[in-house]
Amino acid sequence: MSQPNVYRLNSKEVAAATEEWLAKRGVTKEQIGQLVMLLQKDYFPELTLAECVINVDAVLSKREVQNAVLTGIQLDILAEEGKLLPPLQDMIAYDEGLYGCDEILALSIVNVYGSIGLTNFGYVDKLKPGVLKKLNDKNSGETHTFLDDIVGAIAAAASSRIAHRKQAEREAIAEALQSDQEKT
Ligand SMILES: [Mg+2]
Repeated sequence: MSQPNVYRLNSKEVAAATEEWLAKRGVTKEQIGQLVMLLQKDYFPELTLAECVINVDAVLSKREVQNAVLTGIQLDILAEEGKLLPPLQDMIAYDEGLYGCDEILALSIVNVYGSIGLTNFGYVDKLKPGVLKKLNDKNSGETHTFLDDIVGAIAAAASSRIAHRKQAEREAIAEALQSDQEKT
């Protein structure tokens, strides 16, 4: 009896491809970490770049994030190569103002760590600091219509993760101090 071909996805391959393609498209984790730093340094002055990069890594380890990164980069590359169907080809290649699917795809990343990511996402999208400025350079000959939103969304999600964790840390310290005082 013949067995039907069973499709089995290798999660490690997806994670490795995500890292590989971000690097190939000129984005490093440190650059995303710098965006996180910018978003969070006023709230947590002791925050380090290394900590930010750890949180970027945590965001990138999620499958829904990897899926969005790979899908977005693939569409950017196809647009760069002129391989999309018209009129989608021009809409993505020229980053058309009324085409919003790039932001919508990026929202699937922002949502991973709750709603405060949404505020941060809006903020970096408006300001376009650091690596986002480079990705938005329309004279580079490259198309990053999807990737700029994806990178902003990863930074926003990592920022939410930090905010949630730091709040939990502060509460744990306050509780420990409280119980110490009660003992004395
Ligand atoms: Mg875009």
